[in-house]
Amino acid sequence: MTPADVIRKKRDGETLSREEIAWFIGELQTEAKPAGKVTAYQATAFLMAVYLKGMSARETADLTQAMMDSGTIVDLDTIETPKVDKHSTGGVGDKVSLILAPLATACGLCVPMMSGRGLGHTGGTLDKLASIPGFSSDLSLDAYVAQLESIGVALIGQTRDIVPADKLLYSLRDVTATVESIPLIAASIMSKKLAEGIDSLVLDVKYGSGAFMKTLADARDLAERMVAIGREVGKPTTALLTAMEQPLGHAVGNALEVEEAIHCLRGEGPADLREVTYALVAEMLRLGGRVARAEDAIPLISEAVTSGRALKIFREIIRAQGGDPGVVDDPRLLPRARSVEEATFDGKPGYVHAVDALKIGRAAMLLGAGRASVDDSIDPAVGIDRLVKVGDPIRAGEVLCRLHASATDRLEEAEALVQSAIIINPDPAKAITLIHGKVE
Ligand code: URA
Repeated sequence: MTPADVIRKKRDGETLSREEIAWFIGELQTEAKPAGKVTAYQATAFLMAVYLKGMSARETADLTQAMMDSGTIVDLDTIETPKVDKHSTGGVGDKVSLILAPLATACGLCVPMMSGRGLGHTGGTLDKLASIPGFSSDLSLDAYVAQLESIGVALIGQTRDIVPADKLLYSLRDVTATVESIPLIAASIMSKKLAEGIDSLVLDVKYGSGAFMKTLADARDLAERMVAIGREVGKPTTALLTAMEQPLGHAVGNALEVEEAIHCLRGEGPADLREVTYALVAEMLRLGGRVARAEDAIPLISEAVTSGRALKIFREIIRAQGGDPGVVDDPRLLPRARSVEEATFDGKPGYVHAVDALKIGRAAMLLGAGRASVDDSIDPAVGIDRLVKVGDPIRAGEVLCRLHASATDRLEEAEALVQSAIIINPDPAKAITLIHGKVE
């Protein structure tokens, strides 16, 4: 077999065998395997062939398995508690993981969670956690396993040993217009999640202006493909399809989102954020065998919040990972921006009809909350809060949101973007339906 044989077969629209996919991915030239027979330019031609010709469900599962096999697959067999994780395809104001991880642990699951940093207008869990003074998500695999054994949850970054093939393939896709391929996205996400050592997985596949997938149909397609991979490799996987037309909650920006997540763990916080988080935790509890039906999980989840157990676990995670758990009781210990400006409404009274998530995400980026390229640094303190929601009534002079900034040079541009993101009409607007179905 040569690299060109595999590329030619896919280029001509044929179906690759498991052996061909395993060989091609196994022979990728990486830092760890400099003598690999598949060069980066051949890998790129393969990616374009997959982009153009697609892959069957079986080929996608084989690609996922081959990518997982390129690195370490974490062994969590010493832990008997069901190990269930959640992955979101990303959005604006999506701080669900910060609430869900301690909450699912408080309800009796083990949550091994490896997350990513934010890129573009979408935020990343690691950046939000990094705004907690002292917090480190850079644990060794041994420390990760030890923390899962002791407190049942760890929130860490992707280590170098997990799916090194994805690191290479993703960087090639990024510069060769081959990111937007459902089999490639599905294999990339699932290989990393399945290498964490989990028993089962819940996916939050988002669609809408602030999401990777712009339509519900595309989100469903991606969800079906990822759920099928889970089934093929014997890890039960469920996906919820959720709207990302407006940001989740009222806050966008790293420290501001941690603060909102803490409110939510206290049983306060925005209703939309609680709705999505509880629905995902309920699915995790069902897959983990804690309840027979997701509906049965809601009393358990509410009790974990009202008793303070979920919040206590969040403090334990922060302490175990070197952070200051005092932020949970006093969010003023989180980084604060130098200036806080209000953006106000100056039209006729009406109702909020849209809050474009993409524009709000971009405004937060202008303030310094996100990165345009992987090497950019971010400012943990800046962002947007008290953002209005679709359905809210509003009058002239009232606040649309607050902008937290460390420098004033992009403030005007950010405010203009926020103003253009929020559509107000005189007639009442219906609140957005958040959960649009489940794929299992
Ligand atoms: N996230 C990933 O990890 N991989 C993709 O291909 C897209 C989003």
